[in-house]
Amino acid sequence: MRRILAIAFLPLALAGCGVSPETREPVSRAPTSGVGSVNWEKPAARQCVRELSASGAQFAPLSDRYYGAGCQALDSVQLDRVGGDLGPLVVTNLGPLACPMANTFAAWARYGVDRAARQILGSPLARIETMGSYSCRNVAGTSRRSAHSRAEAVDIGAFVLEDGRRISVKSGWNSGEKEREFLRTVHRSACKRFGTVLGPDYNAAHADHLHLEHGNGSFCR
Ligand SMILES: [Zn+2]
Repeated sequence: MRRILAIAFLPLALAGCGVSPETREPVSRAPTSGVGSVNWEKPAARQCVRELSASGAQFAPLSDRYYGAGCQALDSVQLDRVGGDLGPLVVTNLGPLACPMANTFAAWARYGVDRAARQILGSPLARIETMGSYSCRNVAGTSRRSAHSRAEAVDIGAFVLEDGRRISVKSGWNSGEKEREFLRTVHRSACKRFGTVLGPDYNAAHADHLHLEHGNGSFCR
């Protein structure tokens, strides 16, 4: 099956992650408009979007993009909602996200975050506020490309519950007994699913977000 999809690329809101202003590189942005033809010929990509769709996620597959300088978004999707036990969970402010990462993220949101919100905070999760995914940049202080430059990382800023409460990483990590417990629980569950997880205890650059990165490693801080 071959489908051609017209995708409206939104300007990407890209946030810093472990990069001080001095080391921040110019950020590549996707075009503000464009027509994408998704490479459905790749079996792994096809299988990935099938799984993502079956999980209840709402998303649009994106055409492969090469931005130069080692930065690219391949087999990626624009993810707007992930499936939850009680209904869709909104995800805000994401740019392109590699499909395998999107699947891991969707499972974490449902089983690691929404269920923790109900158990610990007594309310279902409504929304996950991210600080972006794709961004052409290096790991701070190195010449190595960040997983963000491959659309394989997401920065999480806050969780909004159905009862209206907003639990931000910045304000909740070290204040409020329940908020602390919730954020540490979702951090722990992220460590079981993602290759690299960095939070406020790692360094000051991560004081306001959780960095979740696709991979087989187990770097959890
Ligand atoms: Zn990050």
